[in-house]
Amino acid sequence: MIIVLRPDASEEQIDHLLSRIREMGLTPHISRGIERTIVGVIGDERLIRERSFQSTPGVEHVMSILKPFKLASREFKHDDTIVHVNKVEFGGNKIVLIAGPCSIENPEQLMKTANAVKAAGATVLRGGAFKPRTSPYSFQGLGEEGLKLLDEARRATGLSVVSEVMDTRDVELVARYVDILQIGTHNQHNYALLKEVGTLQKPVILKRGLSSTVEEYLLAAEYILSRGNNQVILCERGIRTFEKATRNTLDISAIPVLKHLSHLPVIVDPSQATGNWRLVEPMSMASVAAGADGLMIEVHPEPEKALSDGAQSLLPEKYAHLVSQVQLIARAIGREI
Ligand code: PEP
Ligand code: MN
Repeated sequence: MIIVLRPDASEEQIDHLLSRIREMGLTPHISRGIERTIVGVIGDERLIRERSFQSTPGVEHVMSILKPFKLASREFKHDDTIVHVNKVEFGGNKIVLIAGPCSIENPEQLMKTANAVKAAGATVLRGGAFKPRTSPYSFQGLGEEGLKLLDEARRATGLSVVSEVMDTRDVELVARYVDILQIGTHNQHNYALLKEVGTLQKPVILKRGLSSTVEEYLLAAEYILSRGNNQVILCERGIRTFEKATRNTLDISAIPVLKHLSHLPVIVDPSQATGNWRLVEPMSMASVAAGADGLMIEVHPEPEKALSDGAQSLLPEKYAHLVSQVQLIARAIGREI
């Protein structure tokens, strides 16, 4: 349910409304827009009764949110959400470039990549320390040692950093080292993990599940939002279809669909989507043309030696070329990089 407040509603009236909502066993989420303040009410649907708030002082009108996702919806929040990560803004006019190796392997590999992607224009460094691998015999990541290397790269370059967390038991540890937590495609349905990162006040990149519909995806985001963490960044990274020519099928249409249904920033990972470095540049251009707010791209100084995802990793010079191409698209649609 959404409660739209009158433009002249006083702070006392708002406080009174919020405490009434809490008394009823429900949770209020306040969204202060430029013109209006809106209160989203979530909780046990049986307890939500619109009539109880229609005559509360300061209230203009009450309506139900028809979509199953509530706080993630444009109905709840009309204006785009901007997620701030140090000096970087996700969801504004500027397109955010995240780049780095799939896995953190050693100090030289990470530092080389970090310096190269920074020189090309990236502002966020990615690197996996806990890796979700299909085979238990594949490289699983360096764990905390990898996070320490990421932290050193952050200090040396000034880039913000993002890394994946796969287990509720590691959330506190990973959050200590990174600016942004990543929830991978395999964990979109890990509700315990979604709830856990929902209790933090830290940006989260939530990747779309391999076989998830847009609605299921936004409900996963809702898990994080409903726990109080409103810094969620969506990431389309390809879905599983019958097509075998690419690792996954990049659902370009999901970008405008998500932007229409939700106020959250939407970025794209064309590396996981295609599985092939040759396709990363054209799919990056297409993603930006379709309205993506950012790109997450895998870069490795020696892709053929990479311990994970070498086939989709770009050499640093290829990444620099990609950035120049994406810049052309961004300029054409009135956005900046
Ligand atoms: C990754 O970013 O390296 C990764 C494993 O991503 P995804 O969860 O999208 O497969
Ligand atoms: Mn990868």
